[in-house]
Amino acid sequence: MSIDPVVVVHGGAWAIPDEMAEAHLNGVRNAMAAGWQALHRGGSALDAVEEAVVVMEDDETFDAGRGSFLNREGKVQLDALIMEGATLRAGGVGCVEHLRNPVRAARKILSESPHVYFVGEGAERLAAEHGLPLCKNEDLIIPREVARLREFQAHAAEQKPDLFAPAVSHDTVGAVALDRNGDIAAATSTGGTLNKAPGRLGDSSLIGCGCYADNKTAAASTTGWGEPIMKLVLAKWAADRVASGNLPEWAAAEAINYLKARVNGHGGMILLDARGRLGIAHNTPRMAWALKTVKEESSGINRNG
Ligand code: ASP
Repeated sequence: MSIDPVVVVHGGAWAIPDEMAEAHLNGVRNAMAAGWQALHRGGSALDAVEEAVVVMEDDETFDAGRGSFLNREGKVQLDALIMEGATLRAGGVGCVEHLRNPVRAARKILSESPHVYFVGEGAERLAAEHGLPLCKNEDLIIPREVARLREFQAHAAEQKPDLFAPAVSHDTVGAVALDRNGDIAAATSTGGTLNKAPGRLGDSSLIGCGCYADNKTAAASTTGWGEPIMKLVLAKWAADRVASGNLPEWAAAEAINYLKARVNGHGGMILLDARGRLGIAHNTPRMAWALKTVKEESSGINRNG
């Protein structure tokens, strides 16, 4: 029996300013279209989430790939995870500095390696051995981010940074998909948080925190300040609630409520089960999202449910 496919993507949850809304909307729509095309060509859910995330890594609007936030030493350090719901195969990279598309490296790890997670130079070496081009770190840095870091550091002493405030930008990207075989997958990619310490990993690339996929539960991708999210293993938390019989719509909203209630976190989540039921939730003023099913194509910068 052929299942109706679904693609859902997000491009970060925060108080996206009006002047940046269109760029975010275009970015998530392009990503959704790329994911849908992959499915249309007969690709798997895994192919769909990879292609969707690559589009957003290549789009400087987002905190993923080129154009990411800089760490406190002025470097880009990227994290990504991809996971397949049918087999629980997963591939993750952390703190990579020379890859334009870390999700492609994550996919290579998933399909070519007996291991699940690689960091730094080892991850880059594995990617290069499997044909992915390495770039200079400077190739990932854009002037907007140099200025943003300079501004942040100039005011760091006088600011009392509220690390959990929704005004802090979070442009991490993610995708979940369901293919015609009834398999689901998820991927998340990020440059992490502005001015982060070198070597810091957030939730995004950690299994069950920023990304998770299991056909028996659900596929999830999160965004928001990573430290609170990872403490709650939030993606797995939400997926498990779907397995206990809750609608993804409800489980996503509950997960975000739990994030706020338990650790005062702000963020967002997309959640999809193998029956094609989905949830999109955030407690930030806005979150860029787009989705496509056989019956519906929609996108926005605000949605709960
Ligand atoms: N969750 C990401 C991190 O903490 C940031 C984000 O979602 O924008 O690395």
